[in-house]
Amino acid sequence: MGKSSLLILPGDGIGPEVMVEVRKIIDWFGSNRGLDFDVTEDLVGGAAYDAHGTPLHDETMAKALNVDAVLLGAVGGPKYDNLDFSLKPERGLLRLRKEMDLYSNLRPAQCFDALADFSSLKTEVVSGLDIMIVRELTSGIYFGEPRGIITEGNERVGINTQRYTESEIERVARSAFELAKRRGNKVCSMEKANVMESGVLWRETVDKVHQAEYSEVELSHMYADAGAMQLCRWPKQFDVIVTDNLFGDILSDTAAMLTGSLGMLPSASLGAPMENGRPKALYEPVHGSAPDIAGQGKANPIACILSFAMALRYSFDEGVEADRLEQSIENVLSKGARTHDLLGEEGITPLSTSGMGDAIVEALAVSI
Ligand code: NAD
Repeated sequence: MGKSSLLILPGDGIGPEVMVEVRKIIDWFGSNRGLDFDVTEDLVGGAAYDAHGTPLHDETMAKALNVDAVLLGAVGGPKYDNLDFSLKPERGLLRLRKEMDLYSNLRPAQCFDALADFSSLKTEVVSGLDIMIVRELTSGIYFGEPRGIITEGNERVGINTQRYTESEIERVARSAFELAKRRGNKVCSMEKANVMESGVLWRETVDKVHQAEYSEVELSHMYADAGAMQLCRWPKQFDVIVTDNLFGDILSDTAAMLTGSLGMLPSASLGAPMENGRPKALYEPVHGSAPDIAGQGKANPIACILSFAMALRYSFDEGVEADRLEQSIENVLSKGARTHDLLGEEGITPLSTSGMGDAIVEALAVSI
C-alpha cells in the first residue's frame, strides 16, 4: 500500500487550536514510527465561508473523496449565526457526511482511569470502560418520508417516518461486526422490535448477516429502552453496540457522558470500502468550536488527538500505534496533567492546549 493520505480540515474556533496539537502527534509518528502521511490542509465551515463564500468549496469536497481519511476540528461560531441556512458552517460538515455517504457513526465510550472520578457513576462502574456505539447515520426517522406538519380537521399533526431498507441495515451491521472482530468480539444490537416493524426487520437482518458472515462473533439483542438502563447500570457488559439513527443519537450521548468531559470524546464516521479496501472515513471530536474559550489556549486537544488515534486504527491498520497513543494520553493524565475542562480538585495548575499536546508528545517519546 502506498503513502497514506490525510486531509485535515481545522475549521473554526478551537478547531485550528486543537489541530496544531494533532499535527505535532502526526509529525512524531512520522519521525519516530515510520508512519509517513501525505497530509493536506484545507478550509471548512466559517473559515471556508470567509475565503470562498461557501462552507465547503467543491475542490475541498473532491479532495475529501480522494483521500484515505479526513480529520476535522470543529465548525461554527456566533459570527455566522445570521447567515442563510444553506451557507451556515454546519452545512459544510453535513455535505461532507452526505457526499462521502458515511452511514456508520462510531462513538467510543472509553474511561481513562485517571478521570474515573469525573463520571456521575461510581468509579467501579466506569473504571476501565471501553465500549463502542455504532449508530446508523444516513437513514431512519431523521430522513424518512413522509415528514412534515400537516393540518387534519382543526389541529396540526407532526409526522416523521422510521424507514429502513434491508441493505441499509446490512451494511451498518457489517461495520459493527468488523469492529467487534478487532475488539472484544461481541455485538449487542438494539431496537424496539416489540413495538416497531422496522425493529423487527432490523433484528432479522442483523441475525441474517451474523449467521451468513460473522457467526464467530457473539451476538445478542436488546430493546433500546432496556439497553439505556443497562448502559447506566453496568456498561462494562458491552463491547460493540449497533443501533439505528434515533436510538444511536441518544444512546451514544448517554454512553459518552459516562466518561466525563466533552473535551475527551472522539468520533468516526465510516462509509463503504474504497478500492484500496479502506472505508471512506471522517474523524472528528464530538465537541463544537467552543467560541467561549477560543483563542485563550484553554481548549483540551485530547478529543481531537483521540480522533486521530481512531484514524490510525480504523483507516490505517495501525492498531498498535493507536494503542501507544491512547496509552500515552492515559499516562499523561495519570501523572495529574489537566486542561481547564478537567479541573476538579483544588491546587492544580492547568496546562494550556499546547502544554497538553507537548506532554503527550513527551509521553510518546518514552514509550519507545
Ligand atoms: P461546544 O461543544 O462548542 O461547547 C460546549 C461547552 O464545552 C463550552 O463551554 C466549551 O467551552 C466546552 N468545550 C467544548 N470543547 C472543549 C474542549 N475541547 N476543551 C475544553 N472545553 C470544551 O458546543 P456549543 O457551545 O453548543 O456550540 C458552539 C459552536 O459549535 C456552535 O456554532 C455550534 O453550532 C458548533 N458545533 C459544531 C460541532 C461540530 O463541528 N461537529 C458540534 C457541536 C457544535
